Amino acid sequence: MTITHNPGPGTAAVHAGESRQRAFDAITTPIVQSATYTFRDSAELIAFQVGEVEREEYGRYGNPTVRAVEARLAALESPDAPAAALLCASGMNALTTVMLAMLPGGSHVILTDDGYRRTRQFVSTMLSRLGVTHSVVEAANPAAIAAAIEPGRTRLIITEAPTNPYLRVIDLAAVARIAREHRIKTVIDATFATPYNMRPLAYGIDLVVHSCSKYLAGHNDLLAGVIIGRPPIISALRETQGVLGGICDPHAAYLLGRGLKTLALRMERHNQNGQAVAEFLARHPRVVRVHYPGLPEHPDHAIARAQMRGFGGVVSFEVQGDLRSAMTVVDRLRLPYIAPSFGGVESLVEQPALMSYYELSSEERLAVGIRDNLIRLSCGIEDASDLIADLQQALAEE
Ligand SMILES: *Cc1c(COP(=O)(O)O)cnc(C)c1O
Repeated sequence: MTITHNPGPGTAAVHAGESRQRAFDAITTPIVQSATYTFRDSAELIAFQVGEVEREEYGRYGNPTVRAVEARLAALESPDAPAAALLCASGMNALTTVMLAMLPGGSHVILTDDGYRRTRQFVSTMLSRLGVTHSVVEAANPAAIAAAIEPGRTRLIITEAPTNPYLRVIDLAAVARIAREHRIKTVIDATFATPYNMRPLAYGIDLVVHSCSKYLAGHNDLLAGVIIGRPPIISALRETQGVLGGICDPHAAYLLGRGLKTLALRMERHNQNGQAVAEFLARHPRVVRVHYPGLPEHPDHAIARAQMRGFGGVVSFEVQGDLRSAMTVVDRLRLPYIAPSFGGVESLVEQPALMSYYELSSEERLAVGIRDNLIRLSCGIEDASDLIADLQQALAEE
């Protein structure tokens, strides 16, 4: 890295990982749209094989556009200690790459509830074929994680912070301490936080995973994922990726790198909007409950305040009534689009009961903690006053 030591997130988002010497003197890092890379002669090939020169070889093993973005993400996540990043085809691909690489047949993994549903699904439907068993414990509860450890068998603890959709925030140092005592590796899916709001590596977590499709890219125009950790563990995961093949396309990497430049600005606005909207909803008579770590009544408010710079743009809330009452509120909103995902500049809204959990019955949903009157609003970067006015009219009595 050529910029100052320990840059702030605004500076790192723009400059980290970029060499001062620009290709073709272009201010932007070019999209290197090449599947393979040529060698001048056999001697250069041999020099590469014996490790005398570092260079590209074939697109599945690396790409200059991808590497530049990886370096920037690593610097954002860990400005003060060596780290490396591995870009992947999607957030799910990042998670499955970690799990396939780090969970040998017959091992055990601990997951938390209130998390990304596909992560649990991968473990229960695919890894189970390798004899990998799992425990699902309460989110944001380090004691529950400690109690689920099977000494000698547990290899990985995978949790999220903040979680989806209830935005629970776990005590990162406590999890890292428990894992270290048992020589277990820890993985945090910190997609809802981004390195702007929280940096789990600084608390001793081994690997951070993000879906870059959300805040990091920020414009709902690409899918990508990233794994960030100390360089040796990322090198090993890069080997796994070379076999599995879930690489990030250079064009997606370019768009991600472009989106990242405004990460700090966007996150500041997402944080402000999330907080303002959560406070508005908490006072509204037709809202039964608001789930947002920036509110004092949130169960993890204290640890979230200690660990996070801000609490993001996603606010989950429950309206008075049932599935239909919540549908009416969602349908009356004029600014947010009804869509899955979050973290882009435009506000999005969804009812988990109609989106990720549609095929379950109300009772089955309740059993996994998803209430029918729950709405998840992802505040974009619009003006808070407009978002609040829109919610005000959508929540008004008929
Ligand atoms: C979206 C998301 C994922 C999956 O990421 P994709 O890029 O859609 O594959 C994983 N974890 C969390 C917390 C997410 O929000």
